[in-house]
Amino acid sequence: MIAPDKLGPTLCIGELLVEIVACEPGTGFTEPLHLLGPFPSGAPAIFSDQCARMGSHSAMVGAVGQDDFGRVCIERLAKDGVDVSAIAEIPDLPTGTAFVRYRPDGDRDFVFNMWTSAAGRLSWTPTVEQAASCSGHLHVMGTLLSNPAVWPLIDRAADMIKDRGGSISFDPNARKELRLDAQTQIRFDALLAKTDVLLPSGEELMAAAKAGSESAAIKALFSLGIQEVVVKRGADGATAYTSHGDKFVQPAFAVDEVDPTGAGDCFGGAYVAARRLGADVETALCYGAAAGARNVAFRGPMEGAGTRVELNHFITENRLRI
Ligand code: ATP
Ligand code: MG
Repeated sequence: MIAPDKLGPTLCIGELLVEIVACEPGTGFTEPLHLLGPFPSGAPAIFSDQCARMGSHSAMVGAVGQDDFGRVCIERLAKDGVDVSAIAEIPDLPTGTAFVRYRPDGDRDFVFNMWTSAAGRLSWTPTVEQAASCSGHLHVMGTLLSNPAVWPLIDRAADMIKDRGGSISFDPNARKELRLDAQTQIRFDALLAKTDVLLPSGEELMAAAKAGSESAAIKALFSLGIQEVVVKRGADGATAYTSHGDKFVQPAFAVDEVDPTGAGDCFGGAYVAARRLGADVETALCYGAAAGARNVAFRGPMEGAGTRVELNHFITENRLRI
C-alpha cells in the first residue's frame, strides 16, 4: 500500500543541478551560442518540486555548492514547498551543471558536470538520517543504481522507510542502459522486491520484468509484490495497472511540446503526491498526465510543474490526444 501523506514526506535522494539550454536547435556546443538559464534541474529535484506543488509533503537529499547556482536550486525548491533541510552546501565544489542543446530531430547533446561537482559529495550525515527517519515514502531514480556515492544512501533510506510502514516508488529511467551490469542488476532486482509503485517508460517495462510482452511483464511484477505499475508513453499517454486487476488508460493531453525534459519526473511527482493524498489510481493517473504535459509546454526542466489548482485548470482547459 502506498503510505498516506500523514506518515511523513516523500523523500527523493540524488542530483541537483542547473540546466543551461541553447536557444537554437543544432548540434553540440562548438561555436558561440545564445544560451538560456540557469534553470533548477536534476530528475530527483523535478520530481520533488512537482510532488510539493501538488500539496503533498516532499523532502530532498542532495548537495550543491555555495554559489548562485546552488541558491537557484534551493530557493526554487523551498519556494515550492520542498523541505530542503537535508540539502548540503559543499564549500569547495561548484553546483552541478548541464548544458543542453536540442538537435532538430529531438535528440539532445549535453555537456555535464555532475558527479565531479558538489552533487558527487553526497554522504550519510545526521541530517540525512533525520530526514529518512521521518519520511513516509521514498521515490527512487534508477539512474542512481550504479552510482557508488549515492546508492548506499538510497539503500539505507529504503530500509528505514519500509521498516516504519512507508512505501517505495521506483522509476527505472534506464533507457540508455537497458542491459545492466551484474552488480546493478542485483540492486535493481532487490529494489523491485521492495517496490510498491513502478513507473517505467514503455520499453523499460519488459526489461524490468525480463518478459516478452506487456501482459507477461505486469503479471511478473505483481508476483513480486508490486501493487501499481504505471507505464509512461510520452505523447501516447500512460496506462496504470493495479494488482487488483484494474487497468486504466490515460490519453495524453494535446499540447505543443516546447521542451520534453522533466515530463516523466513531473508525471511521477504528481502521481505519487495524488495517491499519497488519497486519490484513486484513475485520478492520480490523470494528474500525472496533466503534470507531464504541462511541463513539456514550458522551456526549462521544471518550469511547468503545476500546483493542484493549476493542474485542475489544465485538465479542464486542454483536450486529450485521442
Ligand atoms: P523522461 O524520462 O524523458 O522525462 P519518461 O519516459 O519518463 O520521460 P514520458 O512518457 O516522456 O516519461 O512522459 C511522462 C508523461 O507525460 C506521459 O505519459 C504523458 O502523459 C506526458 N507527456 C510526455 N510528453 C508529452 C507530450 N509531448 N504531450 C503530451 N503529454 C506528454
Ligand atoms: Mg523518465
